Amino acid sequence: MTAQIETVDFFAFDNSYARLPDRFFARLRPTPVAEPRLVRLNKKLAWHLRLDPGKLAAPEGVEILAGNRVPKRGEPLAMAYAGHQLGSFVPQLGDGRAILLGEVIDRDGVRRDIQLKGSGPTPFSRLGDGRAALGPVLREYIVSEAMATLGIPTTRALAAVTTGEPVWRETPLPGAVLTRVASSHIRVGTFEFFAARGDLDAIRRLADHVIARHYPEAVDAANRYRTLLDLVISRQAALIAKWQLVGFIHGVMNTDNMSIAGETIDYGPCAFMDVYHPEAVYSSIDNTGRYAYGNQPRIAQWNLARLAETLLPLLAEDKDAAVKEAQDAIDAFAIGFETAYAAGLSRKLGLFQPRPGDLSLAQDLLERMARNRADFTLTFCRLCDAAASPDADAGVSSLFTDPSSFDDWAAKWRNRLAEESGEANERRAAMRAANPALIPRNHLVEEAISAAVNDGYFQPFESLLTVLSMPYEDQPAFGHYVDPPRPDQVVHNTFCGT
Ligand code: AMP
Ligand code: MG
Repeated sequence: MTAQIETVDFFAFDNSYARLPDRFFARLRPTPVAEPRLVRLNKKLAWHLRLDPGKLAAPEGVEILAGNRVPKRGEPLAMAYAGHQLGSFVPQLGDGRAILLGEVIDRDGVRRDIQLKGSGPTPFSRLGDGRAALGPVLREYIVSEAMATLGIPTTRALAAVTTGEPVWRETPLPGAVLTRVASSHIRVGTFEFFAARGDLDAIRRLADHVIARHYPEAVDAANRYRTLLDLVISRQAALIAKWQLVGFIHGVMNTDNMSIAGETIDYGPCAFMDVYHPEAVYSSIDNTGRYAYGNQPRIAQWNLARLAETLLPLLAEDKDAAVKEAQDAIDAFAIGFETAYAAGLSRKLGLFQPRPGDLSLAQDLLERMARNRADFTLTFCRLCDAAASPDADAGVSSLFTDPSSFDDWAAKWRNRLAEESGEANERRAAMRAANPALIPRNHLVEEAISAAVNDGYFQPFESLLTVLSMPYEDQPAFGHYVDPPRPDQVVHNTFCGT
């Protein structure tokens, strides 16, 4: 079956990636599915992308979102990329189950990719079926939208449709297609693809494309490729700091899952930590803890070193000089990350006028939380109340196996708070803006997915999205969404489901 071409204008496409040389991608159409049905359309995002939500939700729109029709001016293609997976280099990965339909300019003037994920096999599918199961599609929808409302750069979910076809994993599962929106889908692995082939011309073109699209400030720099590298590194440092500050664990930080634009991308076996621990791992495929919570900054820097290697020939004529440029750029990651992370921790503790010792105070709390199995999100959330009044201390200390461990720390924290100017309630409000109450907790995500997949019941999915759309607000009506899992609800493993 071949997808039909649409005649009605749904998208005002302007496809810059499709204008790159042919070896950057494979042109092909999505493979149509039996029975497209809209599960959810992100109307707000549609509006932001200058799309008509009514038209998208109508049968013709849903056919586009399922890959049964290609919208007018769409130039569907699967992107080529390589990547380091769990540390080992794979010279060819590519979009094995995703197809870029085209690019639109959103209401902020930002160019956005519109991509179908789960849209059928491509020349990059290897042994895969090119499809996605409903569970992982809903997981990506929930978590990526939650990240967006938390203020963390991320790809977005525009729509989810079911296909009416099973996908075969260990058992047959309902199939689905996610429409993903990204600043671009260019990855560290895209650069590695061409570096592995010694295709310097392609690397230069890709770098110029990325500069024009994501980092225009590098255009006039003395060494534009060094500046590009610096800017990618600084965006990633800021991104990873944000992950750490909300307890997000990506789960598969392979170089093909690291966006050049600095967005969180490829939500697979990701998780938000419940109990705080630097060694927390949820991904079922991460046996060595390579992508554990506490390793994420180091892994990001490692991935960026792989990017820097691909750019070496562009950094300087002389090889040693190029290596020095790359090394200096990579060293800056640690500084960028630590600065952003320390500033974020201070905000989480209500310390807005920096003093030496603030970072150790925060680290002391984190160590106590790890020893006492304290819930990450709830500890910081309740700390906001404790900042307003010590009466609220018991709410925090009760999260610790040994409550006195918190009380000892709180005494030091209060001494430090006394040096801050400003009124207690204002401090509480400012802290709340840094400490979300509502995160997509694993057990809630699993509940929502299981109701949808097993019973065709989407209400828990809808409710979770509603609650997560205001993560920093007090929402008393949704109290149970704030709660950590009961012991029988704890999710220990998350799966990529591919
Ligand atoms: P991921 O682990 O989802 O980041 O994917 C790693 C690589 O495997 C990418 O090249 C994907 O396109 C490919 N892949 C993942 N799942 C499938 C699938 N069901 N069919 C074809 N390719 C896939
Ligand atoms: Mg991937």
